[in-house]
Amino acid sequence: MTQQLHKTIAVVNATGRQAASLIRVASALGYGVRAHTHTLKGVIAEELANLPNVTLLRGDLMNNPTFMDEIFKGTQLAFINTVSQAGDEVVIGRALADAAKRAGTIQHFVYSSMPDHSVHGPWPSPPMWACKFTVENYVRQLGIPATFVYAGIYNNNFTSLPYPLFQMELQPDGSFEWAAPFNPDVPLPWLDAEHDVGPALIQIFKDGPKKWNGHRIALTFETLSPIQVCAAFARALGRRVKYRRTSKIEVKVRIPDGYREQLEALEELFGRHEAPYFPQPEFNTPAAGSPKGLGPAGGKGAGAGMMQGPGGVVSQRVTDEARKLWQGWRDMEEYAREVFPVEEEANGLQWML
Ligand code: NAD
Repeated sequence: MTQQLHKTIAVVNATGRQAASLIRVASALGYGVRAHTHTLKGVIAEELANLPNVTLLRGDLMNNPTFMDEIFKGTQLAFINTVSQAGDEVVIGRALADAAKRAGTIQHFVYSSMPDHSVHGPWPSPPMWACKFTVENYVRQLGIPATFVYAGIYNNNFTSLPYPLFQMELQPDGSFEWAAPFNPDVPLPWLDAEHDVGPALIQIFKDGPKKWNGHRIALTFETLSPIQVCAAFARALGRRVKYRRTSKIEVKVRIPDGYREQLEALEELFGRHEAPYFPQPEFNTPAAGSPKGLGPAGGKGAGAGMMQGPGGVVSQRVTDEARKLWQGWRDMEEYAREVFPVEEEANGLQWML
């Protein structure tokens, strides 16, 4: 067993992509982790349970303050990413923040938030995001040292399976097609959650609340328009990959309760309104010295993108902060080449063979 050198981090929803990314890196670096999971079954729970210095605590978060006290016991740091599957995210998020405060030992509480677009423009409020913003506001008034990370769109949302919004649909001629309501030419912020959330969070914890108390940080390393995403996939897979803009998000499978409302809001937001993914002003001001009209980011290491802001297109370096936190990030092309075929094969698909 590796010797534990560092502080202990409280985590919830351990098997989710964000939390699992942190737990893997934290364990490798010698941090202790006390992590809630709703199940000990499955490959990820089994993997995490076997990592050095990681204690997995199985239980339900809804109306369970005693269990929450158990999660924060002896911890100094916290990363909280709630998921809708666990129950009411506002109730759970607030209760977790209360438990962190009660513990009395938490020096830095990092909460994975998302925007409520209706606060920033004449836009609908995606219910699965707005609830996180409500919790963010609660945490802010609790007076615990806190930082709010905002995840970009995960690279590994893409799948050829018929899930809504990010299906890379395999065509009879072996090419792929992605159909979605996003403007084909407006860059969106991307994140390889499994690869890059953990290292970025470790740097946030190292910098601590002295640098980040009260801040919002966009966890996105690359901005690419849908056309650029398809070009990255095409280069990586050596196949034709086409983008088709649709007015409706196609739903071909049964989806969980509440997800349809989320999809309808996203359809309105990004289709009809072409609203920015991150609407907050701090993510939409031109960085000092960045020329207006800077072209969209290409591959790794390229410059900033142009993103649609509330007043139209603004120059934006939304990736700057994340890239300063962690330079080893994985771009879309690398994801599509190295990971997408492996995940597809694990899902029982055979096109890559
Ligand atoms: P995930 O989607 O990878 O995993 C879902 C988690 O929910 C797993 O830990 C799973 O074990 C757990 N779960 C499943 N059923 C459950 C149940 N009945 N009770 C309790 N837990 C259950 O998780 P993630 O990606 O780390 O976090 C998801 C959150 O991230 C969502 O709230 C989403 O809005 C947000 N987000 C996602 C994206 C994206 O592009 N996918 C972007 C920004 C924010």
